[in-house]
Parts: sequence; structure tokens; C-alpha cells
Amino acid sequence: MAVNARPNGLIIAIDGPSGAGKSTIARLLAKRLGYLQIDTGAMYRAVAFLVGQAGIDPGDVAAVERLCNSADIRLDNANCSLRVYANGQDVTELIRTPEMSLMTSRISALRPVRESMMLLQRRLGQDGGVVLEGRDIGTAVFPDAELKFFLFASPEERGKRRYAELVGNGEPVTLEETIEAVTRRDRQDSQRDIAPLRQAEDAIPVDSSHSSIEEVLNKMEDIARGKIQQAGTLL
Ligand code: C5P
Repeated sequence: MAVNARPNGLIIAIDGPSGAGKSTIARLLAKRLGYLQIDTGAMYRAVAFLVGQAGIDPGDVAAVERLCNSADIRLDNANCSLRVYANGQDVTELIRTPEMSLMTSRISALRPVRESMMLLQRRLGQDGGVVLEGRDIGTAVFPDAELKFFLFASPEERGKRRYAELVGNGEPVTLEETIEAVTRRDRQDSQRDIAPLRQAEDAIPVDSSHSSIEEVLNKMEDIARGKIQQAGTLL
């Protein structure tokens, strides 16, 4: 991996399956480093929301493409809490339901959706000083990222975490159906033709199954600081 000097710092990619802890870790790591967090899953979720709201059949790729060409997706990280806007509408909570997760996995396999989101992600991240989390950051969006992590955990552990999160949001779900939904989404995300979920060859694998967030975060922060120092970009 090249260590380049980008104007604002490194590009740090965190990829991995759902429920591995990417969002929490990305948010805290970005905060510790003074970097910007870019939640690319939230962008795909916002597109899925607009597709649903417009009543577009996800099988109608031409209509999805038209929507993508005019969609205005924004992430606002003010005060370290992420808010997501789709065509000006605050969809932060609306995009987190189990139905929206599966719908997102479906529409994110479509070429026009991936192309438009990739362009946006590259524009937002190219100057560095960013932690991008997703499925294909290290493999497709920024294959030249200075630091790549692949964060994973067992399907049972990820299902349990997602279950706790959904119950906390008041969703009427069971543990069994949550584990099944997580596994189904992994399968869809890993088996699609374009930019499937997979570990980049030069990514550092991090297993979060048996570690606390703090432990995982400390380990990743140490590695990141080493890289930042090496690049001479420590602020
Ligand atoms: O990370 P999150 O669970 O919010 O992502 C929702 C969905 O968005 C994933 O299941 C995946 O289908 C899609 N996604 C993607 N590429 C990314 C990030 C998310 O395809 N870089």
C-alpha cells in the first residue's frame, strides 16, 4: 500500500459484513484521529429509501438510473452524530429498518446505483483525512487507500448485535429472524457481480467476535497512528 501525502491525511477504509461493528468503530476512530467519517452504507440506504418513496420497481433499472442521476444524498456529521439527507429530507431513522436493509442490499447490486455512489464517495474522500466504511471501499472505491481494515465477526455474534440495536430502536424482531436476515444480506452482498463484499488482499483482518469495541478500536487506532506518522501527516 502506498503512503501518499493527501492534503488532509490518509484514506482509511473499513470494509466488512453487516453487524461487525463498522459504524461504531468508524465513528470513534474518526473522532480520535480528527478525521471525517463517511458511512457509505447510509448512502446506499438513502437511495433505497428514494426508490421506495417514488414507488419504483427495483427491477426497473432505467428508472432507478434516472432517480440516481437526480438524487441529492448528503451526510452531515456535525457533533459526531450522523444525519442522512435524501433530496433534502432527513431520513436518518427511516433508513434503519430491517426492510430497508434488505431493500438496500437489493438495489446496491445495480450498476447505476454503484456508479453514482462511487463517484460521490470518491469526491468526498479523495483529499484524505477520512474513515470510509462499507463493503467495497478497499477493493473498488479507493483501491489505493493508505490503510485498509477488514472487520468481521461470526454470523451469530453479528446477529446478536444487530438484534440488540433493532430492539433498542423499538423494532418488533426476534433473534432468529435477525440472524437469518444478516446471513441473507451477507450472501446477497458477497455474491453480486459488481463490487461484491470481499477482503482486499492488502487489508488487515480484524476479528471483533470476542473483543470489546474499546479493544478493537485501540488496536486499529495504534495501526492508524503508525501509518499517519509514517506518512508525515500527523496534525
Ligand atoms: O453498512 P450498512 O449495513 O448500512 O449497508 C447497507 C447495505 O448497503 C449493505 O447490505 C450493502 O448491500 C450496501 N452497501 C454496499 N456497498 C457499500 C456499503 C453498503 O453495497 N460500500
